[in-house]
Amino acid sequence: MVTTTSLKTTKSEEIFSAARNLMPGGVSSPVRAFKSVGGQPIVFDRVKGAYIWDVDDNQYIDYVGTWGPAICGHAHPDVLKALSEALEKGTSFGAPCYLENILAEMVIDAVPSIEMVRFVNSGTEACMAVLRLMRAYTGRDKIIKFEGCYHGHADMFLVKAGSGVATLGLPDSPGVPKSATSATLTAPYNDLEAVKRLFAENPGEIAGVILEPVVGNSGFIVPDAGFLEGLRELTKANDALLVFDEVMTGFRIAYGGAQAKFGVTPDLTTLGKIIGGGLPVGAYGGRRDIMEMIAPAGPVYQAGTLSGNPLAMTAGIKTLEILKRPGTYDQLEQTTQRLIDGLLAIASDTGHTVCGGHVSAMFGMFFTAGPVQNYDDAKKSDLEKFNRFHRGMLENGVYLAPSQFEAGFTSLAHTDEDIENTLAAARTVLSNM
Ligand SMILES: *Cc1c(COP(=O)(O)O)cnc(C)c1O
Repeated sequence: MVTTTSLKTTKSEEIFSAARNLMPGGVSSPVRAFKSVGGQPIVFDRVKGAYIWDVDDNQYIDYVGTWGPAICGHAHPDVLKALSEALEKGTSFGAPCYLENILAEMVIDAVPSIEMVRFVNSGTEACMAVLRLMRAYTGRDKIIKFEGCYHGHADMFLVKAGSGVATLGLPDSPGVPKSATSATLTAPYNDLEAVKRLFAENPGEIAGVILEPVVGNSGFIVPDAGFLEGLRELTKANDALLVFDEVMTGFRIAYGGAQAKFGVTPDLTTLGKIIGGGLPVGAYGGRRDIMEMIAPAGPVYQAGTLSGNPLAMTAGIKTLEILKRPGTYDQLEQTTQRLIDGLLAIASDTGHTVCGGHVSAMFGMFFTAGPVQNYDDAKKSDLEKFNRFHRGMLENGVYLAPSQFEAGFTSLAHTDEDIENTLAAARTVLSNM
């Protein structure tokens, strides 16, 4: 166990104990509570670039990046400037706004499958809406999702949903009626044969397949060669839709998302996180003939009071503008490779069995020999070891996602020095474990 704790968190502890009386578990979203890793969460005071400061004024190098949006670095000056200018014109219109056109054009230009887009306020909302659209377009009710993939907290998706759900050991959630999930079929990730079987057993009944094209919600898992292509063929052959949930991977593993990186084009795509630049935004889009079924162009209802609001659009536009600058994805790739190669080497030097990897600015490491190709493999990770690693890193100034079942994120603000400092912390922690 790491003993070096110069970390003083008195104010965090006070605030968090008070929070527990005010909000369930003291948080607004479960994983933040550190339940799976143990110990008290730190309470943030401010963020900038690659860093977080907590309320006790401890500084950390951050690899969560507010769960993805902070890919340019927290509180990027260009984003803040654009936001403060937009603020002068008001915070919400509830009416058409030119900024929606700009962000829509950027998204349509970037993401191969998207010919038309609808903005919403979160990834959850985008996935809920896309499911309704899949069903409306095909006239079928059943969908296939993969074990350990997370598509937000809507009832229909809370089956083997990875991430927060996995972390808390809830295989499912009370309050979700059987009727809501009875049309949700699941298969292990990277298992094309299982998907084939589901199509064969449910002829003409499956609306489509939804997946994270690179998984970040059961830890970091990449698609095997041929998996995405195989799903594309299977869905086509069965007149079903293929949906990439790129809420996490969109604009992270390439400007055009996983579909651009792997050259497989789905029918529909969901987005979130980065396209809001740290404000609440989600989106779904895809083929024009499908998207034109959405109200008011078509009969499929979906609406939102704050959807497309000028502040969220502004943060998204500015974030994508920064990402579009030359060299950004090369930089993200180099930073992340240096980090994960270093972590894996140090873990093995210090006698720990690990596996891991990265794609662009997304990475992960498991405490098991691997390979990790699906959620069952991910669960073989030594969680007790991960928890000690997490705590040790926190005490040494590095903020990692408080769960083994979450991917890590780097940003344009992470410097070589940040990576070196992170690796030095990892060496200290792992050699004491
Ligand atoms: C985060 C996430 C969601 C949910 O997005 P929220 O904005 O948290 O509702 C959905 N799908 C994936 C792949 C995600 O990573």
